Amino acid sequence: MSLIDTAKDIYELAKKTASIELQEKLLRMREEALSLQEENLSLRQRILILEGRLSNREDLYFDGCLYWRIRDDDSQEGPFCQRCFDANDRAVRLQNSSYSGSQGMMAHWTCSVCKSGYSPK
Ligand SMILES: [Zn+2]
Repeated sequence: MSLIDTAKDIYELAKKTASIELQEKLLRMREEALSLQEENLSLRQRILILEGRLSNREDLYFDGCLYWRIRDDDSQEGPFCQRCFDANDRAVRLQNSSYSGSQGMMAHWTCSVCKSGYSPK
């Protein structure tokens, strides 16, 4: 039985025998219990979101320019956009936009979300 159900039962019992003042206090307690239940639900949802972000943070490592994910088999996935991850906790996979320059192939990555470009050394 939840706190809300208990408060409701107490209020129903009190309606028969308790004074008006006590009934009002019990009704107020029931409303506060409902408010606490709503706040509790909201906090639980917030915890789930933060745990998801924390899990994401633990999965990625920063090589000084880009983020990478190490899979369970030690292979590497990515890279991911540093700007999107640092600002919004979004692991956005970068597009390979390497090009042929005067010194050979130049590594370059582009984010399709924030349009940042990265040229790792
Ligand atoms: Zn980005």
